[in-house]
Parts: sequence; C-alpha cells; structure tokens
Amino acid sequence: MALHGERCGLRMTADPRYGAGVTTVRQCVPGQVLAYLAGGVPVSGPSRTSVQVDVDRHLESTGIEGVRYVNHSCAPTAVLDTGLLVLRAVRELVAGDSVTLFYPATEWDMAEPFTCLCQENGCLGRVAGARFLSDAQLSGYRVSAHIQRLRSGAC
Ligand SMILES: [Zn+2]
Repeated sequence: MALHGERCGLRMTADPRYGAGVTTVRQCVPGQVLAYLAGGVPVSGPSRTSVQVDVDRHLESTGIEGVRYVNHSCAPTAVLDTGLLVLRAVRELVAGDSVTLFYPATEWDMAEPFTCLCQENGCLGRVAGARFLSDAQLSGYRVSAHIQRLRSGAC
C-alpha cells in the first residue's frame, strides 16, 4: 500500500504507441509525488522534450526525473505542478500504469506538434499547445497558472 508522500517510483518502458514511455513501479494514490523536476536546465525556447514552467521559462532535463519521457494523453494520469516543480498522480495508479501528462496544461506553443494516438474519449487529435485550443477543449484539465495568464491575454 502506497503512502502519501512516498515516491512510488518510475521506470522507462516500451510503449506500443509512442516507442518509449514511463510507468509506475508501485501503487500510487491521487496527489502523490511521482517525480521532482530536479536538475532541469533552462533553455531559450521550447523543444520536443522541454517542459514550460512559466510564460517564458522552459526546462530541459536528461533524466527520467525530468519527465522528458512522459507521454501525452488526453486522459492523463499525472499533472505537473509548475510552481513546486513536481509531477503528481491525478488518480490511483497501480504498478505498471502509464504515467502521462496533458501537454497543453503546461505548453503554450509546442516546438513539435503531433497527432495524438491516445484513443481516449474527447481526444484532441492534433496536440500543438494550449494556444491552439478552445476554452471547451481545455475545460476539465488542470491548466498551469502561466497558461491561464497567457490565455487571458495578460502576457
Ligand atoms: Zn489524445
């Protein structure tokens, strides 16, 4: 039984849809920290593997803890807290579950848009960043504060 605050561990695995992905090693409870974005190096703009943590701040990391291998899903199992720089489970996960993020929750205008293959209900199809989505498409997702500011036109 996983405990709140105890890291549940991540491992890289082959993902039939995307080639590589990240799965849990142990059971995780909702809200549990899956990874810390330690060691992220600021980069000048978005890349295929960077994470946007503020309006004009993008981090790149080489380790699994940097979430660069976490795939996108339109029904994500994790959320990235860009204030605390932690990856948290959004629902109960069992060992071996895929860890996924809704990329537009942090990414405004992605360097390499792609066609989503998640096959979830309400799948966006094309994933290019929050800039290209309607309010309806973003509703129901936990969107980062910098994305909310960008969408409000405050930046
Ligand atoms: Zn999708």
